[in-house]
Amino acid sequence: MTLIVTKFGGTSVRDADRIRNAARVVAEEVEQGHQVVVVVSAMAGETNRLTELAATVTTVDDADARREKDALLSTGEQVSAALFALALRAHGVRARSLNGRQMVLRTDGRFGNARIRSIDDALVRGHLDDGQVVVVTGFQGIDDQGDVVTLGRGGSDTSAVAMAAALAADTCIIYTDVDGIYTADPRICTAARRLERIAAEEMLELAAEGAKVLQHRSVELAMKHGVHLVVKRSFGEPGGTTIVPNLSDLEALKVTAVVSDGGQAQVGILGVENRADMLAVLLAPLARDDISIDLITHSVGMDGRATLNFSLDSARLPESLSSIESAAQSLGAQRIQVLDEACKISVVGIGMRTRAGVAQRVFSLLSEHNIPIHLGISTEIKVSCLVPADCEHDAVRILHEGFGLHHMVAAAAANAATTA
Ligand code: ADP
Ligand code: ASP
Ligand code: MG
Repeated sequence: MTLIVTKFGGTSVRDADRIRNAARVVAEEVEQGHQVVVVVSAMAGETNRLTELAATVTTVDDADARREKDALLSTGEQVSAALFALALRAHGVRARSLNGRQMVLRTDGRFGNARIRSIDDALVRGHLDDGQVVVVTGFQGIDDQGDVVTLGRGGSDTSAVAMAAALAADTCIIYTDVDGIYTADPRICTAARRLERIAAEEMLELAAEGAKVLQHRSVELAMKHGVHLVVKRSFGEPGGTTIVPNLSDLEALKVTAVVSDGGQAQVGILGVENRADMLAVLLAPLARDDISIDLITHSVGMDGRATLNFSLDSARLPESLSSIESAAQSLGAQRIQVLDEACKISVVGIGMRTRAGVAQRVFSLLSEHNIPIHLGISTEIKVSCLVPADCEHDAVRILHEGFGLHHMVAAAAANAATTA
């Protein structure tokens, strides 16, 4: 008997009709003789609604407030889980819903961004063995104090993969509002094509660089535990993308996909004293406030003074700016430049390991189209750069076309077919 973990995102449980449809999908899986665990998100828009509701009551963001916000946000998934179990029962399928506390999904205590430590699979297995479908809430668990914590936005993907790993499920299917992983966000780039397969490493980079179709940690967990992961839109239809451990050299494209992440800010600190501890001093206030920096460059000018540029989440800029400024002044900075509306554009592909010239091509394509590049970085399988936020969509389309992604997918499929 096959065990399937099936996750439904917010769009798939948006209203009663969608829940009934999704329940029918599960009923068909059960009819085919599978054991099924369903992981649900909150109904589309609900997590945002609850976040805004909290903001109307308070602007305080200390640990106590974060605890209460997590208690609030976790209710969205509880509503969908119970409704889903009811809808399954209406289809004649025996089902039982469990929330994060009931299934004992243990996490660390980081409110709003917790990491899963363990799942007590005994209860879920017990219900499965009893012939029931188990519907569990995504996005939440409990910490050592017994407080409800959430896993960060998009966290239901991670709940699903963690559940699949804990139960050693045969497959984990993520149902969402697109029929797979595309060469770019199809909402931004209409020429984007669906990928039949994508290497886990590439998916990890795409998720990390802003493709919210899968939460980054879900891909990490799938890689770590060898979970068979599929992203698709609907049951029974062809389509979907399988995340595979590896691709053959012939299948591996130099660039597989383009991804963008708005909401970035860039800070430039110019003309500081070039001391050995310069970076440590300048970045200390950010580390203290738990603010991650992303791209970073550092150079020393002819005059012997240093310049540091880095990017960070623009939402964290206001709280960090004054401490960055005082650290910069303590090292005699001549100027501080802030670009608060930037976007990170990345191209990803494991084929670039063996083929050179991708970074040069990215920079030349963008500059040919007069898109200013503020920061750039190239790693083994990715090239990223920061551009002004209002260039986001143009930059994605230019790079998608410039790397011939609409043709290349077809070419890779043909390669795979001839080498099979
Ligand atoms: P869910 O509510 O099902 O979790 P999300 O909104 O979190 O769905 O993720 C799905 C969205 O991810 C799609 O609607 C799409 O706009 C976006 N997305 C970004 N990059 C990609 C990509 N490369 N391939 C597919 N979808 C993408
Ligand atoms: N409901 C949560 C969110 O909107 C978790 C999820 O849907 O994955 O981020
Ligand atoms: Mg999501």
